[in-house]
Amino acid sequence: MQGGRVLDPANDLDAHVDVRVRDGIVDSVGADLAAGGTTVIDVKNFIVTPGLIDVHLHLMNGLGAFGADPDVFGVGSGVTTVVDAGSAGHTLLNVFRNYVTNNAKTRVLNYINLSTLGGVTGPGYSILSDPRLIDEDKIEKAVEANRDIIVGIKIMATGGALGSQGLKPLERARKLGDALKLPLLVHIGESWTKDTAPVHVGDVLRYLRAGDIVTHMFTVHPGGLLDGNGKLWPQVRDAKESGILMDVGHGLHNLNFDVARKVLDQGLQPDGVSTDGHRGNRAGPVYDLPTTMAKLMALGFSLRQVVEMATVNAARLLGRTNNLGSIRVGQPADISVLRLEEREWEAVDSQKGALRARQALVPVYAIRGQSLYEPIAVDRP
Ligand SMILES: [Zn+2]
Repeated sequence: MQGGRVLDPANDLDAHVDVRVRDGIVDSVGADLAAGGTTVIDVKNFIVTPGLIDVHLHLMNGLGAFGADPDVFGVGSGVTTVVDAGSAGHTLLNVFRNYVTNNAKTRVLNYINLSTLGGVTGPGYSILSDPRLIDEDKIEKAVEANRDIIVGIKIMATGGALGSQGLKPLERARKLGDALKLPLLVHIGESWTKDTAPVHVGDVLRYLRAGDIVTHMFTVHPGGLLDGNGKLWPQVRDAKESGILMDVGHGLHNLNFDVARKVLDQGLQPDGVSTDGHRGNRAGPVYDLPTTMAKLMALGFSLRQVVEMATVNAARLLGRTNNLGSIRVGQPADISVLRLEEREWEAVDSQKGALRARQALVPVYAIRGQSLYEPIAVDRP
């Protein structure tokens, strides 16, 4: 790849250099490299980054209203790694592995659902926390057989999903996470049910530890990070200081620009940027990860910061810095190519709130090993 702006925050690299890939392996990164028999791809008007990582999506293609094709939000969106958030409980994990992960061109990782039912029920049902459908032994067996793809345990910490069980499922998830040495990915915000009392985020955070992830940090729904006066709950600051991670999780419901401004103004930064992509939000308001990154840029983050979130920070959040999040000589090519467009557009959040944006981010290629993928068309703003 010749002449692109290589932006690799993990290596503190932001320079116009070439990246040479031979037989699918990164062979050299530097100025004016000779092609040496490799195919030259002119990327001089583009940004070259480590393969982008989207840490929260719903990818059980064909399951209910949500399951999206991983390659639509993955290599079809300039993204090389996508992570499913809880579509599969332990009973479906082999199905997920065989039909989703193994059939995708994108690397597909997985947060296993605490509930046996997983995404089968949809997110709003208290049956998800039925104690008969939390089976530690079987989850443990499924995890041990699939450590290569499992990065954590997903739990919905909402009144709608926890129902009469209160915080008990969270307590069981905590114990399981400790036993299996896996982080918890915890959904906050009553985005799916309006008729149940919300769970207070402070109560949820008591069960979390350094390395666990709270997703939907900018939700406007009850159970979010802000109190009634728009101030961060004190427990949220404590949690952040203790090493609990915060993820965006845009989705249909949970990126609200006003909430984001208030949270950011009080100094709380996201650790990860993710789409919460599924079949119902691909055509808007989510579109893809580059568009979600550009929305954060409209909120004041720099290109380097959003690339850092979607590469090295995401790799850290997944516990995969050994092979993800940076461009490494001698490792298989895992690279994204993006176009930064200087133009005005209207960024829209999950509640149709609008923000003037001056820069757009558009996928150009996703590269994994010897394969180069072009984006799948989507009518993004
Ligand atoms: Zn989700």
